[in-house]
Amino acid sequence: MPAADPDAALKRNAIAEVKKIYAELAAMPIERSCTLRTECCQFRLTGKAPHLTRGEALIAARALRATGRKAQPSRADGACPMLDPFTSRCLIYENRPFGCRTHFCAAAGGPYARKDVVHLIHRLQEIDERLGGDGAANPIEDAVAGALQACQ
Ligand code: SF4
Repeated sequence: MPAADPDAALKRNAIAEVKKIYAELAAMPIERSCTLRTECCQFRLTGKAPHLTRGEALIAARALRATGRKAQPSRADGACPMLDPFTSRCLIYENRPFGCRTHFCAAAGGPYARKDVVHLIHRLQEIDERLGGDGAANPIEDAVAGALQACQ
């Protein structure tokens, strides 16, 4: 039997707080319409990938595990590993990171203005610090790889 995680309660609380931030973001009266075109998930084409705080990475890793996977699918085309190559849909859409929710493509209305969401970013950073994170230094693939290891 694996040893109990001494940080389990800390992680549980962090996950709940990050999910609350996602819900608050969704409730903000900012007109945006993501139609799942997934163009923003093509990192090699866009030259950009979301960077995750530790709390976001834990949520993404758990959501990936909930699909029955133990590791991230590998993508040879430079797209996000969470983009299912068979369905071209995000494997963790309901639990996608903050950057995926706010850095919309032009067709969806463009990125959120930082001033509108900076208070939520600060809360994500505070949670990251509490978890001993690295200030969202890592892009999604590395961040989720670390979180998958941390929640084995
Ligand atoms: S996590 Fe999902 S929404 Fe975000 S870039 Fe990856 S596939 Fe796209």
